[in-house]
Amino acid sequence: MATRTTKKTALITGANKGIGYETARQLGKQGYLVLIGARDEKRGNEAVGKLKGEGVNAEFIKLDVTSDADRKAVAKHLAEHHGGRLDVLINNAAIAIDGDAKSSNVSHDVLRKTFEANFFSVIALTQELLPFIRKSDAGRIVHLSSGLASLGLHSDPKWPFYNFKPLAYDASKTAINAFTVHLAHELKDTPIKVNAADPGWVKTDMGGDGAALEVTDGAKTSVWLATLGADGPTGGFFHMRERHPW
Ligand code: NAP
Repeated sequence: MATRTTKKTALITGANKGIGYETARQLGKQGYLVLIGARDEKRGNEAVGKLKGEGVNAEFIKLDVTSDADRKAVAKHLAEHHGGRLDVLINNAAIAIDGDAKSSNVSHDVLRKTFEANFFSVIALTQELLPFIRKSDAGRIVHLSSGLASLGLHSDPKWPFYNFKPLAYDASKTAINAFTVHLAHELKDTPIKVNAADPGWVKTDMGGDGAALEVTDGAKTSVWLATLGADGPTGGFFHMRERHPW
């Protein structure tokens, strides 16, 4: 029997560091109970400790997004806690392992590993948790995409990242955009909103020290989409509240 709760609950994957951690911190400051999804127990618990030190109501939840057993354990946890309900799911965890590979020589191993983490696992986790999101009055699903997902931007020689084309990562994020549009369409007659977020180029382990944005700004698009009102958009692709071309 699920324990009852009125507080909104948000699950953020890959929340032990980077944009995921900062997204959890900002949602926590708005009063959400944040479930810190992390594949490593020590790193996850350290993040929870830091968040609690800032007055955020945070709990560690073990979640390697590529693990079916972990995804099912998260579903079981939600069935038994937090009112059997999930208000916000932020599919934030991802990998970028193209290195210097070009489209002409990227290995199938890199393509498969990237799609496993960044695409197939996102679909599997979302499908597993959708029954709990349906129990929310205002379910919100946010997929971390990237400007690099945009075929429109990639085709524009004036775009600052025009010459940066890691195929495995970019295509996995383009595929996430397709999932966003398709799932939003399926759920259009429900209160659930599904959107894709480009956080921008952000200073994290993935983005590197030379990135343009601090992580506090990098989390803003995810936080905005997680907290949209009933009149907010669904099935869109946004950076800082502006629509991106697909
Ligand atoms: P990051 O600093 O590398 O953090 C990635 C997070 O994902 C880490 O917590 C990592 O956990 C986790 N992760 C990776 N594989 C996982 C798995 N199988 N299961 C569970 N967690 C896993 O990256 P970030 O910059 O914060 O990126 C967050 C999101 O924003 C990603 O989706 C990324 O593609 C997107 N994005 C980032 C930028 C940017 O400039 N930074 C730009 C566009 C889009 P560990 O600590 O255990 O490795």
